Amino acid sequence: MDKLPLDLPEFQAGWVWLVGGGPGDAGLLTLYALHALRSADVLIYDALVGDDVLKLAREGCVLEYAGKRGGKPSSKQADISQRLIQLAREGKRVLRLKGGDPFVFGRGGEEALALVAGNIPFRVVPGISSGIGGLAYAGIPVTHRDCNSAVTFLTGHNASGIVPDNINWAGLAQGSPVIVIYMAIKHLGDIAQKLMINGRSADEPVGIVSRASTPAQQVLETTLGTCVEDVARSGIEPPALVVVGEVVRLRSGLDWMGAIDGRVLTSDPLNIKDQSDKVVSA
Ligand code: SAH
Repeated sequence: MDKLPLDLPEFQAGWVWLVGGGPGDAGLLTLYALHALRSADVLIYDALVGDDVLKLAREGCVLEYAGKRGGKPSSKQADISQRLIQLAREGKRVLRLKGGDPFVFGRGGEEALALVAGNIPFRVVPGISSGIGGLAYAGIPVTHRDCNSAVTFLTGHNASGIVPDNINWAGLAQGSPVIVIYMAIKHLGDIAQKLMINGRSADEPVGIVSRASTPAQQVLETTLGTCVEDVARSGIEPPALVVVGEVVRLRSGLDWMGAIDGRVLTSDPLNIKDQSDKVVSA
């Protein structure tokens, strides 16, 4: 890597770096992630890490796939952890690269704890989670002062592949104006139903963002009541994020990627110009 006026920690032999690779666009990697890619002996990566990121690995770095995607061959979590320990014990610089942030629905904690049990030194490098950075690429902010002062990150399925049952759906529906759901497409109907039963309106805006920040990014704007049919009709596919809440309407003002392709943005996507004057002077 080019010399920077910044001291990056040495990636020492026998260490594991657990690194977030961001949502897809290689430009969203952190300096630490890039440094790790330029130094590692072995890179163990997930399905969500794209080719552009892998290409940044140092020449001679061995790439090992440890992806886990529904329907496709997968490596068991325990096997991945054992592999990390084995390689570190062989004295390798082991880069464990995960999509987004390793500690956001990424099982980074589990892998790190296995390293603790194996007495392997490790460093954690956070990444831009798709639920924040991926949505920003669709022009959807996860908070906006006029819409919400709280946001919830939710997983659409638990370790057994079903909608988590340890969620207080009434509390969530009534308490969180914006809900960002990872791994939600499969159970979208069930989740939308649970939110509506607990008080959310069928008209509430929903955004669905597939392959965010990659050239294949697709965005669907829909509502809680119609999202299942709209997803089926659009053919939009996982990996995708689902965001429920008024912030989705900001997209008509903040779709900066669309603007690059000529979309004309509105400066008042929520139609609140008069009111916002009052809020400011209040
Ligand atoms: N640790 C990751 C999340 C892993 S869980 C992170 O912080 O982003 C896997 C889920 O993440 C996918 O099912 C999808 O919901 C979401 N995801 C990850 N990358 C994505 C992308 N580029 N576009 C859309 N969704 C993405």
